Amino acid sequence: MFFILLGAPGAGKGTQADIIVKEMSLPHVASGDLFRHALKNGTELGKQAESYMKAGNLVPDGITIKMILERIAQPDCNDGCVFDGFPRTLDQAKALDAALEKQGKSIEKAIYIEVPESALLDRLTGRFVCRTCQTPYHKKNSPPKKEGVCDKCSGELYQRADDKEETIKERLKVYFAQTMPLLDYYNKKGRLFRVNGNQHIDQVGKDIVKFLRGLKQKK
Ligand code: ADP
Ligand code: AMP
Repeated sequence: MFFILLGAPGAGKGTQADIIVKEMSLPHVASGDLFRHALKNGTELGKQAESYMKAGNLVPDGITIKMILERIAQPDCNDGCVFDGFPRTLDQAKALDAALEKQGKSIEKAIYIEVPESALLDRLTGRFVCRTCQTPYHKKNSPPKKEGVCDKCSGELYQRADDKEETIKERLKVYFAQTMPLLDYYNKKGRLFRVNGNQHIDQVGKDIVKFLRGLKQKK
């Protein structure tokens, strides 16, 4: 089963991905994490993506789609995965559908985490991420037990370079212009599930798990 996590930057996709991955026993495929990994390792992909990421813009579709299709060709994605941050444009969504269709597969659901725009800036400026396992924390909303240290793997927490106000504003603009149309795209296919992301992290997770269990029962 292939799931997509949709929502604005800061909506809680990375936070909730963990729960879905465990509930469905599927790998987590986060395009932003893949790009940051490539950047850190100085690969050709990282060099291609760097300037776009720094500016808060989208990496061109050709580069992004190729990276994702290579990732899902790996055996751990044979039975599906949880996409996080991909697709972000209609062309990416169509390319993904076409690639899955060739293998007789399709998107099961796009889970849209709905959060008012007014909440996003605080979530993103207060976010800290683990350098090792990418788990997101928030200085007030979900602080780690020990400051600067990941609860899960003891990795170092850091603030992403693009989580500063100026870049966040650009990323939100890009989201509303280029990614919001995907809601309509998946809704028309009957594949959209909306969850209220403006509740406590645990409650958002509970709502998603309830939905997934219902889905499994129908199978
Ligand atoms: P995304 O992956 O959609 O960009 P994250 O999962 O990284 O978003 O969450 C962004 C920030 O908001 C993180 O600091 C996270 O701890 C915090 N956060 C996530 N979900 C909630 C929530 N329901 N309420 C408050 N803060 C949240
Ligand atoms: P994220 O970690 O999802 O917030 O993504 C961080 C950055 O990586 C974005 O601002 C983009 O520059 C780039 N990126 C991630 N996913 C995509 C995508 N699907 N399409 C284009 N660029 C992306």
